[in-house]
Amino acid sequence: MAASGRIDSRSIGCVTFDLDDTLWDVRPALERAEAALLEFIDRHLPRITARHDAHSLASHRQEHYRRHPHYAHDVTFIRKHWLAEIAKSVGYGTELVEPAFRAFLEVRNRVELYEWARPCLETLSARFTLGAITNGNADVDRIGIGHYFAFVVTPAEAGAAKPDPEIFRTALAAAGTEAALAVHVGDDPERDVLGASAVGMRTVWVNATLAPWPGGRLPDAVVRHVGELDSVLVG
Ligand SMILES: [Mg+2]
Repeated sequence: MAASGRIDSRSIGCVTFDLDDTLWDVRPALERAEAALLEFIDRHLPRITARHDAHSLASHRQEHYRRHPHYAHDVTFIRKHWLAEIAKSVGYGTELVEPAFRAFLEVRNRVELYEWARPCLETLSARFTLGAITNGNADVDRIGIGHYFAFVVTPAEAGAAKPDPEIFRTALAAAGTEAALAVHVGDDPERDVLGASAVGMRTVWVNATLAPWPGGRLPDAVVRHVGELDSVLVG
């Protein structure tokens, strides 16, 4: 199945993008980042790794996230919060929390863009105001694509994560546009497509695996990858 659906581009001023799994595959970067963090901990906070291997550390972190759902939307804050707690639990101070987080974040930002991502951003940025709306903590400047985006909205700024309408409204305010004049592009049916359409934005679902639509209001267009956006933003 090729791209389907059409959006009249003459009625659009702004295109917002999800980042992880829309412009790159996030899993390998996250796996390497977790490994880098474990290495940092093993070297500088060895009392933690004396009690935890990679698996139990991940379980400990997930349990921490479950116990603090009110912070869970801010992935940077909650990871530092967890690092502080686990350091304190074995008698360390919190002075290595920031360096440990930086060790994680640096590797997390070493993503490999999908081959069609940069050409797509290059083309669309000449026609539309581009923004990014992410639930993650990728840094578009470090990744080398920051110049394509007029704004980046994260849950840390918006106070809520996708699919909460607040993060989309924060993005629309940053764009200085109304929802009907904006398109959101992302891979997650609920967080990206249903979240954006709930505030009145047009939506493009990036469906790389040709998954069935899980239900709810349909996206305006479906593409397999962002290189196909040109063929659905027409007019
Ligand atoms: Mg995504």
